[in-house]
Amino acid sequence: MGLTACPSCEGQVSTQAATCPKCGHQFKTPGSLNLKDPVHLVGLVITVLFVLGVAGYVLKVLLSGV
Ligand SMILES: [Zn+2]
Repeated sequence: MGLTACPSCEGQVSTQAATCPKCGHQFKTPGSLNLKDPVHLVGLVITVLFVLGVAGYVLKVLLSGV
């Protein structure tokens, strides 16, 4: 049994919970992406941008370090 952060109120919620006890956010598919939820979509976009940024930085370091 673990805790996860609620995407709506960022409170700590049990991963077993179907809904957030604090704000009532519904976890339709716990532990997986739900692209119909704008919170998840924004999170995915931020994650992709972050990964691209890190990849670009690593490439830059590798190319300049030769
Ligand atoms: Zn919540």
